[in-house]
Amino acid sequence: MINSKHSKPLSDVQLRVKALESILLEKGVVDQNTLDTIVDIYENRVGPHLGAKVVARAWTNPEFKNRLLSNGAATIAELGMGSILDVQLVVKENTPTVHNMIVCTLCSCYPWSVLGLPPNWYKSFPYRSRAVSDPRGVLMDFGLALPTDTEVCVWDSTANMRYMVLPLRPEGSENLSEDELAALVTRNAMIGTAVVSVS
Ligand code: FE
Repeated sequence: MINSKHSKPLSDVQLRVKALESILLEKGVVDQNTLDTIVDIYENRVGPHLGAKVVARAWTNPEFKNRLLSNGAATIAELGMGSILDVQLVVKENTPTVHNMIVCTLCSCYPWSVLGLPPNWYKSFPYRSRAVSDPRGVLMDFGLALPTDTEVCVWDSTANMRYMVLPLRPEGSENLSEDELAALVTRNAMIGTAVVSVS
């Protein structure tokens, strides 16, 4: 089978997805419009810019932050985000003494509704295993050397429980607007493999 968009043969995974899609459509389990809508949402409309807005709001609005930390999914829904794919979305706050990072040791569970599609490395076996066995080593690979007295907490996501990191607001950002703050927040900072800085 040829992928008409790129004129290349489809990979084994793409062929399996096509076969599964055909069966689900044929049996009426899903319909084409629903599938097209889901693909469009996660390819074009949802991405880390949404999570960055959540972070910037939390940095500037303590009352919002408290609600975000106690009920992530419901609070994010207030901003018009969220999805049934993130059944439970728990936000973990970095502090001067605690650094959080997220992983899915089993597969690739990820807070899609606020970060979009996961990067390939998040789904890779080395990240999924070493994030638990050697989190500081993983962070060093990302160029992040934390102080030795910082506690590193690793949160293992599941299909029903997704996590997102609320990074520390960087020094020097006191006079920035909410939009300017959001522009500083990276996807990796919300996974926990980076921190946010002003520059
Ligand atoms: Fe998973």
